[in-house]
Amino acid sequence: MRIGIVGGGLMGLALAQRLTARHHEVTVFERDRQLGGLATYHDYGPFFWDRFYHCILPSDTHLIRFLTDIGLGDELRWRRTLTGFYVDEQFYSMSTSREFLRFPPVALWGKLRLALTILYCSRIDDWRRLESVPVEAWLLRTCGRRTYEKIWKPLLLAKLGESYRRVSAVFIWSYIKRLFSARHSSGKKEHLGHVSGGYKAVFDRVGALIRGGGGDIRTDVAVTRIEPAAGGGMWVDYDDERAHFDKVVFTSPVSVLERVTAPELLRVDTPGGTVEYLGVVCMVLVTRRPLVPYFVVNIADARIPFTGVIGMSNLVAVEETGGRHITYLPKYVLSDDPLLRCPDEELRELFFDGLRRMLPEFKRAEIEGVHINRAIKVQPLQVLNYSRLVPQVATAHDDFLVLNTSQFVNCTLNNNEVVRAVDEFVAAYGATLDCRDPVPAG
Ligand SMILES: Cc1cc2nc3c(=O)[nH]c(=O)nc-3n(C[C@H](O)[C@H](O)[C@H](O)COP(=O)(O)OP(=O)(O)OC[C@H]3O[C@@H](n4cnc5c(N)ncnc54)[C@H](O)[C@@H]3O)c2cc1C
Repeated sequence: MRIGIVGGGLMGLALAQRLTARHHEVTVFERDRQLGGLATYHDYGPFFWDRFYHCILPSDTHLIRFLTDIGLGDELRWRRTLTGFYVDEQFYSMSTSREFLRFPPVALWGKLRLALTILYCSRIDDWRRLESVPVEAWLLRTCGRRTYEKIWKPLLLAKLGESYRRVSAVFIWSYIKRLFSARHSSGKKEHLGHVSGGYKAVFDRVGALIRGGGGDIRTDVAVTRIEPAAGGGMWVDYDDERAHFDKVVFTSPVSVLERVTAPELLRVDTPGGTVEYLGVVCMVLVTRRPLVPYFVVNIADARIPFTGVIGMSNLVAVEETGGRHITYLPKYVLSDDPLLRCPDEELRELFFDGLRRMLPEFKRAEIEGVHINRAIKVQPLQVLNYSRLVPQVATAHDDFLVLNTSQFVNCTLNNNEVVRAVDEFVAAYGATLDCRDPVPAG
């Protein structure tokens, strides 16, 4: 069957690989010059690495199975990583239970409540009851005011700005659950992983498998219209051309879906009006020495203009990155925030001021490269009762299907969930697309 796939992010490419393995003839359309979407790579000069920081958790079973299926299972690298905390102008390691117990900013009783909150969170399965509870009220109730003011509030401000007041407790529940699964599945010590070569290696491999299986990948091509063909199947318009497919699967964001799809193909109900999105601006530094010994430093200090420090070289061996260290300084903001459109030079100065405050001994001359990466729409703001407000997408034609992350309501945006969604989609629709056995990939 000829299947057109709109979107060459991980969702579209994983789907294309799964369908190619089932002998379908796929064509992927990707608007950008390179594949990968939010998980794509960047040219840092001496090396390529992810545009935004990505890590793999030992509990990411769907993603790990996919990587194994495409022949990259042996390229997975795991490392014991450390988590830091920046509060009261000090760095604290929070990587072991002992360090947690010693953590000075919170008193013993506060620590006990904090530990119980995390344990409680990891045991909650019925996330729907958290949806109507504001995250602030929930954290105050579980951890107490002092720990909330000292730790959680600055963290919420760093991650969500003032919008944290409108966000539900599902936000913190999904965050804690995912992060702590990195410890649970590996003897309580945090272990994280990556693929050797980063996500570039993943997209190069998937691309080769799709092309090797007779599929086509067209980059730098924006789909402008999808409409039903009179004799069955779908027309896809792009640039000044059009192509016919038996089926089309759309994997890009809902805002694009509504713009390019013929109205009779689709019904989008938006019970909550327009969904607000978070975007991210991320300054990436390439240096000869590491800035911090941690993979992640959580920042609980409202004066620092970025959300955290991601010391990628504490996860990825420097041989992978041309002997250099790579550090990401992300800041999440609402997608209409002026910071996302702020000129690079201004942003650089703002972030360097924050860095000087945190690391007074760090010299700007040590920096070999500065890169500023932005994404306007990363994930929806999980406001109160978000699952009831999320756009409900229903397709009205057998040959047109939608599979995208807009329906993720109870998890952080991550690639394990992306692959899970692809595999569930193939399990649900695979039989209607074909009845032959898949051939193994790789
Ligand atoms: C800062 C940051 C850190 C992250 N860290 C992690 C992490 O540590 N671990 C993890 O698992 N995940 C992480 N993620 C999430 C991960 O990147 C996403 O889960 C994943 O990239 C989503 O893939 P997708 O294909 O669903 O969407 P996208 O990547 O958004 O892909 C959609 C694609 O559609 C294309 N498109 C749009 N319009 C058109 C059109 N008209 N025609 C053709 N193509 C079009 C876009 O260009 C894009 O490539 C992180 C994300 C960010 C931003």
